[in-house]
Amino acid sequence: MSDHSKIIISACLAGEECRYDCHAKPNLQMIELVKSGKAISLCPEQLGGLSTPRPAAEIQSNEKVLTIDENDVSDEYALGAQEAWNQTKNFTIKKAYLKSKSPMCGFGQIYDGSFSGKLIKGNGVFAALLIRLGIEIESIE
Ligand code: SF4
Repeated sequence: MSDHSKIIISACLAGEECRYDCHAKPNLQMIELVKSGKAISLCPEQLGGLSTPRPAAEIQSNEKVLTIDENDVSDEYALGAQEAWNQTKNFTIKKAYLKSKSPMCGFGQIYDGSFSGKLIKGNGVFAALLIRLGIEIESIE
């Protein structure tokens, strides 16, 4: 891997307390990858201007992202995904380790929009952008 090649890692997996509930989901392997300089950690929700803590949000059947108290945060999600990608512009990115089930980082499976814990097939907004860009994604619990 050259110096300019990096892996994207969801910041909450790298130990940052950036989730909606102010918690992290630390994963030792992810933390090590960031420490060693092989990976860059990003939280697209924060980069979209959303505060921490923030209300939980889920993608609805019409593809809008709504918070549990019914605010439409679709624009913040779109902006945050793009801004996260922009932050990697000096690197060659081929792979991303993304936090599972999140409406932003989830890959392959996300919550169904009913805030009842039900999962459906689908991708979070950032994961969908990376798929379009041809980046290999691995979902991490
Ligand atoms: Fe973690 Fe991604 Fe959600 Fe940020 S947007 S808290 S990195 S899952």
